[in-house]
Amino acid sequence: MRSLRTPGLAVLAMLPLALSGAPLRTVAEFQALAAPFKSEIRAPRFETTPGQIRDAAAAAIAAGDEAIDRLARQDPAAATFESTFGALDALEADAGLAENRISFIQQSSTSKEVREAAEAAVKQLDQWQVGVGYREDLYAALSSFAATKPAVGGEDLRLLEFTLRDYRRRGFGLPPAARRAVEALFRELRALETDFSSNIVKARMALVFTRAELAGVPDSFLASPGVKTGDDAYTILVNVTPQRLMVAQNCSVAATRRKVAVAQLHLAQDVNVPLLNRIVAVRAQIARRLGYASWDDYCTEVKMAGSGAAATRFIEDLVRGIQPKFDAEMAEMRALKAADTGDPAARIEFSDWRYYQNQVVKRKYTVDSEALRVYFPYERVLQGMFAIYQSIFGLKFEQLQAPYVWAEGVTLWGVTDARTGEPMGLFYLDMFPRPGKYNHFAHFPIQAGRMLPGGTYLRPTSALLCNFPPPANGAPSLLNHQEVTTLFHEFGHAMHAILTRARRGRFSGTSVPRDFVEAPSQMLENWTYDKRVIDTFAADYRDPARKVPADILSRLKEVRLGTIGVFYRSQLSFALMDLRLHGPREENAAVDCQAETNRVQGEVFLPVPDDTAFVAFFGHLTGGYDAGYYGYAWADSISADMATVFEAAPDGFLDRGAGMRMREEIYSRGDTRDVSVSIERFLGRPRSVGPFLRKLGIQ
Ligand SMILES: [Zn+2]
Repeated sequence: MRSLRTPGLAVLAMLPLALSGAPLRTVAEFQALAAPFKSEIRAPRFETTPGQIRDAAAAAIAAGDEAIDRLARQDPAAATFESTFGALDALEADAGLAENRISFIQQSSTSKEVREAAEAAVKQLDQWQVGVGYREDLYAALSSFAATKPAVGGEDLRLLEFTLRDYRRRGFGLPPAARRAVEALFRELRALETDFSSNIVKARMALVFTRAELAGVPDSFLASPGVKTGDDAYTILVNVTPQRLMVAQNCSVAATRRKVAVAQLHLAQDVNVPLLNRIVAVRAQIARRLGYASWDDYCTEVKMAGSGAAATRFIEDLVRGIQPKFDAEMAEMRALKAADTGDPAARIEFSDWRYYQNQVVKRKYTVDSEALRVYFPYERVLQGMFAIYQSIFGLKFEQLQAPYVWAEGVTLWGVTDARTGEPMGLFYLDMFPRPGKYNHFAHFPIQAGRMLPGGTYLRPTSALLCNFPPPANGAPSLLNHQEVTTLFHEFGHAMHAILTRARRGRFSGTSVPRDFVEAPSQMLENWTYDKRVIDTFAADYRDPARKVPADILSRLKEVRLGTIGVFYRSQLSFALMDLRLHGPREENAAVDCQAETNRVQGEVFLPVPDDTAFVAFFGHLTGGYDAGYYGYAWADSISADMATVFEAAPDGFLDRGAGMRMREEIYSRGDTRDVSVSIERFLGRPRSVGPFLRKLGIQ
């Protein structure tokens, strides 16, 4: 703790703010602090009954329609930027607040009826939004104002251009018949996509095994409810990812692993392969009619990559670059399998790699990730992360009296600027599992920040839904290293949302291109591999004098590097399947998504049987992620580049100067300017893939 160069950090980390003895401030008191800054804090009012949800959705739609009517029917001669594009942004932000809040309720409510009502309301709001996008009178009002060539610049010019681009991308500007055809194709596509994803949700496959067939799979898992289904019968639900992975990573019986892997590759196949063939064909038609060479060009136009070719080149270069690393890791796994099976010619099959990768980790790096949990009690990790983010981003977090919480244990926090005392926003934490709750870890923006008419700034509200292990057997909640990393990542998204200074809701917070949005949070994952960072808070909960042993952190880093070739080639195979499906196609040529993607998988990763269809259960192919999987690697490359700023800073990952620059150039800007500019301002130099390639062990 002495070696710590940032004064006060460790002390803060020891002091749970909620338990500091001082009574919690109310939201009203916090709101009052905002007035001198011309800022406004609004705690969202959450609906609590199905009736309230339905009313809220109906009210949002009615208010939206009224605002649109007003916009569309105004006297064109008196129109201003605020009464047209500004008004559209404001009404979209209001509708967005309702939709964000209700979809959040859908993921967090303790009542099944409320969740179901929320699900229906979200669908209704969604459909309403699609309809708004096709309103002729709205487009006419906006485009006729734009035709006056108003003298606007900066964020407003961007708003004007992006809004018109949205219309062009929906087919406005085409002759009426062609436009109607595009609209019909979009509606068909939406229906097909909905079916595709609900088929994935509905897909079930249960396989029953004996204990011997599941050799190597931990007893604790096999004893869990629903898995042990008979005297010597264990049921594995192949469609449930953690169950499938448990077998894939641990089962020493090759035949069992293969059975489970093949079953996965058949999930939703009969229904989704024909659907996906049609989806891909419709997307290609839409792209062609709108003047794009391919669907991936259409999708990437609004992202950093800019074109399908640029995204594909990025992925293909990585596939080639990582070849030696991939080969070396495969050889290591193959040697283990040869020794295990006594077959010197043993090959790593598509159903083997997770098992042998896990074996390499266990035998070569001897990291027992479970044993690390004692160093990461939840409360200490949370306060430790708070202390670090408060310090580097120049903030203060304080727990507030929550006027309303939807479940026990949910807390509300206020964020203020440490220097000026300006309230920046609110966040809720809902950190432990319960039945019916969203079952991953994620940040949910609720209120987006934006300037209200009159010049008051409406500050954002965000929430985190997580599923950390609850306290058990007299011990506090203990996280593993991966969960600590996830917390640093997800809370980074909340920072992005809350620290925004964007005037327009459209450009606020995390509303940046999808191939960038993960980069800042991916960068923050580096923090938890840094001994100095970890030592500011991690300590054995039974004896806080005991710190995380240094060699364990370095071995965790070695594991990351030692398995990155295989990990990335599997990721890159997904990215390339997605891009190839959505690349240029001959008009009216038949689509064979199964054969096309199996070929890519064989070339880039490991061959799969011809009669299987991984893509049928690949949820990322819809919902706006299509032609977008490459974005994970793309953002990772930027995150590695961005991390160099902290690595080179005097105080490393605890450096305030670098943190404040991050806040100013990245978080506060959102999408108000091209993110490439923001990244380069933060870096202080042009972007480079060098740091990413080094991270992958390529250079
Ligand atoms: Zn994320």
